[in-house]
Amino acid sequence: MVARETIAITAGRNDAGSALAPAIWASSTFQMASLADGRAQAMRPRTTRFYGRHGNPSVRAFEDAVAALEGAEAALAFASGMGALCAVVLGLCRQGSHIVAQRQAYGATTQLLAGVCPRFGIDVTFVDVTVAGAFAAAIRPGETMLVLAETPANPRLDLVDLDELGSLVGPIKVVDSTLATPMGQQPLQHGIDLVLHSATKAMAGHNDAVLGVLAGERELIEWIWGFAVLQGATASPYDATNALRGLRTLGVRFRQQSATAVAVAEALERHPAVVEVRHPGLASHPRADLARRQLRLPGGLLSFELAGGLPAGEAFMGAVQLCLAATSFGGPESLVTHPASTTHAGLSAEELVQSGITPGTIRLSCGLEDTEDLIADVIGALDRVAAADDIRPSPTASAPD
Ligand SMILES: *Cc1c(COP(=O)(O)O)cnc(C)c1O
Repeated sequence: MVARETIAITAGRNDAGSALAPAIWASSTFQMASLADGRAQAMRPRTTRFYGRHGNPSVRAFEDAVAALEGAEAALAFASGMGALCAVVLGLCRQGSHIVAQRQAYGATTQLLAGVCPRFGIDVTFVDVTVAGAFAAAIRPGETMLVLAETPANPRLDLVDLDELGSLVGPIKVVDSTLATPMGQQPLQHGIDLVLHSATKAMAGHNDAVLGVLAGERELIEWIWGFAVLQGATASPYDATNALRGLRTLGVRFRQQSATAVAVAEALERHPAVVEVRHPGLASHPRADLARRQLRLPGGLLSFELAGGLPAGEAFMGAVQLCLAATSFGGPESLVTHPASTTHAGLSAEELVQSGITPGTIRLSCGLEDTEDLIADVIGALDRVAAADDIRPSPTASAPD
């Protein structure tokens, strides 16, 4: 079997001719050979030389590469990860459909499921993945259309057992595998029906594309395309080309970021200002056994909780120098963010608690800087925050959260 690192280099070249770099097909429309040809193209799913919303050769090259990396029959790209998620939910469900969804998930995912779905008569049951058998218990036979999981989950790195999820019978099982990338896990190989990625993150990997992608069986992908072509969350050929360029180096980037994240997480665990560190590569992860079994690499994203709550979180965000304060992850620059104020700001106080996000939670995306330099920056910032606290308690420190 060819390794994923090799597939990342060889896949998605069907349209490239002798060029090594992908070609950008900017054209939004293509000339028809005849009216009969135009009619045939209009009726054919996923044609790449008809009209841009139906398909595009540059986008297809990226889709082919993702399909190969996930071991899928087909993949379908979208203008964003949320575009892909919307297409799954609204393309597969109808009024009266039931969805079982993971409580611990990306903020916008929760907002779509909790805020938008009810308006269309789609009933969503949220389950806590830290409770064994939670997905199975929530399924209503004959009624549950989708089961939506995210593993590892953003931002607390909770894990779902893919074999257990894949063995559920009835609903279409969807896994958001953004944090793992195909280098970390291949959900379809565990019986999952659809894998979803925000390719904006590690796949594109350079903070220069907003893109989503789904992979699965051809029939299911074509069905979803039938909705996507009307939804119009169409992937840009420029972003798809950037992402295909990103996939070429995903193997080394993800391996390096995973190693750095383990080293940073271990250093954080030793710091007195830190209450808890979450990373699938840590022995202290609540599902460390599952992480070892399921994840080929643990990934570059970690989160930790500061003893000083929001004031400490704000001080830390201001004290780091190498790390940049920005949302998103998986790129070359190490990024820190405060989920309660940014990625998960749209959640209610109760939803935040249920997601395990506190005012002191910090998310760190390890980039490609030297590992020791990054540790020095993060630990140095924590030391300065702790020292400042000792001398002069900040005026906001005693304010209610
Ligand atoms: C970022 C992200 C999304 C949304 O992707 P966009 O490309 O921003 O639309 C979905 N799921 C996870 C886990 C993410 O991190």
